[in-house]
Formats: sequence, C-alpha cells, structure tokens
Amino acid sequence: MFQALVLRQQDKSTLAAVESLDESQLPDGEVTVKVDYSSINYKDGLAITGKGRIIRNFPMVPGIDFAGTVIESADERYQVGDQVVLTGWGVGENHWGGLAQKARVKADWLVPLQAGLTSEQSMVIGTAGLTAMLCVQALQDAGVSPENGEILVTGASGGVGSVAVVLLNALGYRVVAATGRVEENEPLLKRLGAERVIDRAEFSDDPKPLEKQFWAGAIDTVGSKMLAKVLAQTQYNGAVAACGLAQGFDLPTTVMPFILRNVSLLGVDSVMCPTNKRLQAWQQLAKLLPASYFEQSGQCISLKKVPHCAEAILKGQVTGRTLVKL
Ligand code: NDP
Repeated sequence: MFQALVLRQQDKSTLAAVESLDESQLPDGEVTVKVDYSSINYKDGLAITGKGRIIRNFPMVPGIDFAGTVIESADERYQVGDQVVLTGWGVGENHWGGLAQKARVKADWLVPLQAGLTSEQSMVIGTAGLTAMLCVQALQDAGVSPENGEILVTGASGGVGSVAVVLLNALGYRVVAATGRVEENEPLLKRLGAERVIDRAEFSDDPKPLEKQFWAGAIDTVGSKMLAKVLAQTQYNGAVAACGLAQGFDLPTTVMPFILRNVSLLGVDSVMCPTNKRLQAWQQLAKLLPASYFEQSGQCISLKKVPHCAEAILKGQVTGRTLVKL
C-alpha cells in the first residue's frame, strides 16, 4: 500500500484527499517509480482545486512532475535503482501523476536524473524550472544577447519567473523583475539576480500599439494585457518568450510591434517538448543554477498540505517553488 493524493468528482466539484492505494491500482506503463519528491506548479493548482478544466477522468492522482527511483522496469533503458525525473506529457492530467509515493509511467516520458543534481534539487527545479530554461534558450536562439539591454521577467515571484531571474543573471543578462508583490519580494528577487524590481501596476493601463522601447527581451508568465504591454515596449529586433497565463489567456495586442519593430513572440511549451531538447535543458540547469539558489528557492511541504497550497498558488500567494516530499 502507498499514500497518494486522489481527486474525485462530486456534484461537479473536485474533492482532493490523501488515500491509501494498492500498487495493482496503478495505471499501465513500463516503469514503476518510488517517488521521492514532486512539486506544485500553477497547473497543479488548477487541477487540484478543479478551477481549470485540466482533468477529465476521475479518480485522478495529480502532480505534473516527480523525481524518484525505479523499482520495476520492463524497458531496457531503465534498471531497478536508477534515479529518474518526469515532467509533462500529460502526467497528472490524464495519467496518474507524481503526488503519490509510487507512479507507473511510460519509459519514453522519463529522463535520467541529471548528473550533479539530487532528486530533491531536480524537483526544486521541476516543470517550472525546465520551462524557464526553455524560455531562456528561446531568447538566445532568437539572438537576444546580454549587450542588447535589459530583460524583463513578469510574474517574477512565481515558480517559472523566479528560476528565470536566476538563469538570466547566471548568463550575464541584466534582469528586471516585474512583480505584484514589490514590498514583500524585492529583497529575494534581488538576491536571486534581479538588477531592478518594478511593480506590475506599471503595466496596468491599456497598452498602446507601440510604447517607449525598454526591453531587449522578456520572459512572460502571465499573458493577457501585461504581455500586450510588454510587446509594445520591446526594442527593435527584440524577442518575448511567452509561456504562461496567470493573468489570462487573451492577448489584446496589435501587429505593430511585429511589423514595425521586428519583435518576435516566441511560444514555449514544456509538456510535449522533445526528449533531446529536455536533456539539453536539464544539462544547462545543472550547470547554471548556483548552490545558493536551492537554499532560497521556496518551501517543502507534505502531501496533506497540498490542497491548501493549490488554492494559494492560484491566488498568486506562493513565492518561488514548492517542493512536496513523498
Ligand atoms: P506561479 O503561480 O508560481 O507564478 C505565477 C506568478 O504570476 C505569480 O507568482 C505572480 O507573480 C504572477 N501573477 C499571478 N496572478 C497575476 C495576475 N492576475 N496578473 C499578473 N501577474 C500575476 O505559477 P508558475 O510559475 O508555476 O506558472 C506560471 C505560468 O506559466 C502559469 O500560467 C502556468 O500555467 C504557466 N506554465 C506554462 C508551462 C508551459 O509549458 N508553457 C509550464 C509551466 C508553467 P508576482 O506576485 O511576482 O506578480
């Protein structure tokens, strides 16, 4: 028997409770993993509270990422005792996920734990950190380099945003962190590597098609009006990597930044990201994140505290990353 957070649906609302399950109840898959750590991402918040239509089949074990040790494998790439990491691929959405002491998944969805990282560190990074790395790589691929000017990170106190600040700083970029919690989080954001911290209220009036050019590039985790404003403020030849929708999934912009300033909008998805690109991103994460990052990255909670944390992340009340110890 093992413990898992199980989501069930009653009268169209989602109920989350810790239950004891039997290994025979696990879904099909080639590799069974003893999960050491999972984490809470914004999408987990949507799934666990039922506020986003993330889960369609109940009962479901949520948790879009995990790190652990192989205890059974029918795939020659993985042996008992191997340490592995999983992010994305719809796990925790339509296949039982990482908020459980055991998980059974397809071998194709796993990557070996990156040398130089512990299981715990890999989940401090988690889906959020992988996504931040993919955003940074998208900016680099678009030719945005440190000498071009400042890089803006929106939703900077959040999981993706906070790792993006650390990674950009490690690569020599000058980072400006935009947050709705300046008073509370400015010292932390500066310690993580932001040169300046600005209030997201500065982005609250309606965006004009083109505004004063501030940003050589940006990583946007919030979408909606804020992304539209960032695009209007991006310098000639700049690029914006967009990965999130914490403010909304709409984008009330115009073509002006694209056709008059050669600005690029770069879409970033980590869920279906091909394995080669994932492995490259994990290598970079292990290389770039300093030991000090893991000490100040966030909090570690137990399985029974997860539903409370799921509510908090949707209210924008969580700072940095939340690790779950199984
Ligand atoms: P978090 O909740 O940790 O971070 C989101 C941050 O956005 C908050 O901390 C807050 O930062 C800011 N924010 C919240 N509400 C608003 C609002 N109404 N307007 C403006 N800013 C707001 O979430 P994650 O970091 O886990 O995820 C961030 C986004 O990225 C989510 O939308 C998530 O779905 C998406 N995502 C996408 C992935 C992909 O593959 N494309 C993978 C992972 C995440 P502050 O207080 O500093 O302003």
